[in-house]
Amino acid sequence: MPQRDVSDAFPLTLGENPRFCPACGDSVEARTLEDDHRPRLVCPRGHVTWRNPRVVVGAIPVADGRIYLGRRAIEPARDRWTYPGGFLEIGESAQEGARRETEEETELLVEIGRLVGVYSRPHAGIVAIVFEASVVGGRPEPSAETSEVRAFGPDEIPWDELAFSTVESALRDWVAALPGRGPRHEPQLYVEGDPA
Ligand SMILES: [Zn+2]
Repeated sequence: MPQRDVSDAFPLTLGENPRFCPACGDSVEARTLEDDHRPRLVCPRGHVTWRNPRVVVGAIPVADGRIYLGRRAIEPARDRWTYPGGFLEIGESAQEGARRETEEETELLVEIGRLVGVYSRPHAGIVAIVFEASVVGGRPEPSAETSEVRAFGPDEIPWDELAFSTVESALRDWVAALPGRGPRHEPQLYVEGDPA
């Protein structure tokens, strides 16, 4: 069974419920604009505060058929395992962000490879883009956000100790794409927002 997504305990990765207009500083209120289909946050001068999901990028670093996962040193999901990942920064491509997060969190140098999948988490306000990556240098080292970095074979992945449902979905998809494994339809993995 998929784990409960810990984002339930940390609702809204978006984090904020804006009260003030970023353009002018006046108060905003929810209002449905003409010809629009849902309420927007609008200030008295008519500036709209757009709220959109944030993009999380991740990479599954592979070396000799094994993948590197890090044990999180911070909340949410402290002490649980994940591949490196984090919020995409302005000015970065998804691939650049995934490579940066990998180097920050594991000290591994990687080349970003194929797309593993795109995972929507509407309740958390995120879209996660996950790549496979080849380790091309560096040595695995923990960081401020990671207490331990360890390599796992495809049959050693700590499924019961993963940090987020997105991590589980992406790792299942990565394993399923390995030679001889074949695609497996496991609908229980596809929680809210996943492709059918
Ligand atoms: Zn305004």
